[in-house]
Amino acid sequence: MAELVFFSGTMDCGKSTLALQMDHNHRARSRVGLIFTKLDRMGDSVLSSRLGLSTEAHEVHDDLDFWDVVVDFLTRGQRADYLICDESQFYTAPQIEQLARIVDELNIDVNCFGITADFRTELFPGSKRLFELADRVQVLQVAALCWCGARATHNARLIDGVMVVEGEQVVVGDTAASDSLVEYEVLCRRHYMRRMSSHAARLASATPDVLPFDLDVCAVPPRD
Ligand SMILES: [Zn+2]
Repeated sequence: MAELVFFSGTMDCGKSTLALQMDHNHRARSRVGLIFTKLDRMGDSVLSSRLGLSTEAHEVHDDLDFWDVVVDFLTRGQRADYLICDESQFYTAPQIEQLARIVDELNIDVNCFGITADFRTELFPGSKRLFELADRVQVLQVAALCWCGARATHNARLIDGVMVVEGEQVVVGDTAASDSLVEYEVLCRRHYMRRMSSHAARLASATPDVLPFDLDVCAVPPRD
């Protein structure tokens, strides 16, 4: 029985690397797959990982219909045993429904990889629909780390080095949007809630007068 599986995590947790590894493993067993991605950091129609690996992929635009693409592929006499769908947080809800239909009616495994929540801690539409429809959700075990060393669970957006929690949901990182540099950083919840990026933490440690940590947490309790 085919399955719709959602491999979810924060940024930097190795999703794309795992997607590439999964494709490799299937190919090694002579299985044939279709690879999709959207807004990959390396540009259109490529699935890349931070470790430097990459492969060709179909670019997912909002008007792409997965059902049509796969049925068209099959009617041309091609074979498809599985789909690998990276950056699936950016897919629309109807596109996730098309993927579920491919699993159910064509008996093709669909493996989606994506970030769970955006920089405001709200679910991306694609991730939300995947949580609702997937046969299985697997939280990736390669834990990204906050600058403090704790497990990073949240994605922060920085504009010109300052953490923001409002704005458009999708702005690709390391790009200059309206003359501002947009970057992302993974943080633990504690530091996300305190708006404490690594940059802010460095500034704070350089000016200890305004150290925004709870110093009492670290203080040794007085003995009586
Ligand atoms: Zn932290």
